[in-house]
Amino acid sequence: MAGTDVRNENFIGGRWAPARSGATEDIVDPATGAVVFSAPDSGAEDVDDACRAAAEAFKGWGRTTPAERMSALLRFADAIEARADDLVAVEHLNAGKPIAATGIEIEASVDCYRFFAGACRTMETQGAGEYLEGYTSMLRREPLGVVASIAPWNYPFMMAAWKLGPALAAGNCVVLKPSELTPMSSLLLAEIASDIFPAGVLNVVAGGKQTGATLVDHPLVEMISLTGSVGTGKAIAEAASKSLKRVHLELGGKAPVVVLDDADLEVVAESIKVGGYWNAGQDCTAATRVIAGAGIHDAAVDAITEAARSLVVGPTTDEGTELGPVISAAQRERVQGFVDRAVAAGATAVTGGSTRDGDGFYYEPSVIIGVDQQAEIVQREVFGPVVTVQQASDLEAAVAMANDVDYGLAASVFTKDVGRAMEASALLRFGTVWVNDHIPLVSEMPHGGFKQSGYGKDMSQYAVEHYTELKHVMVKW
Ligand code: NAD
Repeated sequence: MAGTDVRNENFIGGRWAPARSGATEDIVDPATGAVVFSAPDSGAEDVDDACRAAAEAFKGWGRTTPAERMSALLRFADAIEARADDLVAVEHLNAGKPIAATGIEIEASVDCYRFFAGACRTMETQGAGEYLEGYTSMLRREPLGVVASIAPWNYPFMMAAWKLGPALAAGNCVVLKPSELTPMSSLLLAEIASDIFPAGVLNVVAGGKQTGATLVDHPLVEMISLTGSVGTGKAIAEAASKSLKRVHLELGGKAPVVVLDDADLEVVAESIKVGGYWNAGQDCTAATRVIAGAGIHDAAVDAITEAARSLVVGPTTDEGTELGPVISAAQRERVQGFVDRAVAAGATAVTGGSTRDGDGFYYEPSVIIGVDQQAEIVQREVFGPVVTVQQASDLEAAVAMANDVDYGLAASVFTKDVGRAMEASALLRFGTVWVNDHIPLVSEMPHGGFKQSGYGKDMSQYAVEHYTELKHVMVKW
């Protein structure tokens, strides 16, 4: 499917409409730099239309039974699966993803919708009972109403699934604003949803920061769910504080990989080859900071370097390509800036450290050593195919270095010693800790941050809880 086959209009209240101002934004294929689509750049009137449509739809959708919502979500998942080839084509074109990896994301998104279809039927609360003599207390889990879902560009379709799945399952109606760089798969998703959900249950409004900020401020919005950078999370939390809207923030990461001296280096290298460079390193849980014990450090650098060099970099249309471009020219410059400043401060790029010649926004898979704990490249999210390797004297020192960042999304530890793995898992201040692997996720388990990586959980039963509010009903006998 060519990019132009996606409707270049917003989906509001079950109808398609261009931005009322007529404004549009050019959308670029990161693998070639060519303009492939023209998306609406929505303004306040479009946002208002979408929020009103969602509020109106909530009157019905908010009162459906879990079984009805399950049925709609299962049909939605089936319809997505039936259009998987189109979705892969669009997502890979718009986000610059290798075609094989894109298929995995669409499959994972289908699984996410199916999980939440079931999850809404098993919501739990404390039992009803007589906690005061002569009164029966019971708890209800109520949907909130209109949820503003604001998504990033790194996994446009999958992040939309993580947001829509629990929000819709809980009985909310959603206004989804995809990233201004990657609106195409969300617009195609709206087309797929159009004959499944009642009008207004799911609305998609394309646009940039200003569109997002307008949505956050809209008085009909009860909750804002953002996946994005820490800076955007802070801006949204501040804006939401004016009306005390509920906020769910899935923000950036700087995942450490603690490699103890007894680790299996083959497993480490293979895990970092995937975990560090998947999606060209543009992953909030990416394995970005290897912290290796003194006894294994040099061998770890060699093994990780070899793994990075073995990555197949190439056209995103090739089935064998493992590493595609980063999302934009600006992002590639940003990545280069991090590496240049690190090298200027004394670090060494053992491999990579530069852009790749030719079309598209490719950056060489890179391994950087000789960095201080306080170096910018260790402390801040690079969001590109760049992995640093540091050395630590022992487990305690490694964990201290791992925890010494503002982020707290994900971490991993590699060791054959179960006791040390358990100790590290307890001490690492991150929302996910993997042992002897890095990056796999499942719909049943929560994903979310500690510290400045945000609050609220995506996926799992806990996500459904986040998109509801508890109500106590007390009945006098
Ligand atoms: P971003 O923060 O620049 O933008 C995210 C979204 O927020 C976009 O749709 C953007 O238009 C919108 N936005 C920006 N400013 C806004 C404002 N003031 N008000 C309302 N909306 C606003 O992030 P990005 O560059 O698109 O994505 C990359 C970031 O997302 C990285 O930091 C990455 O770690 C993070 N991320 C986190 C997770 C997670 O699960 N924790 C998953 C994927 C990506």
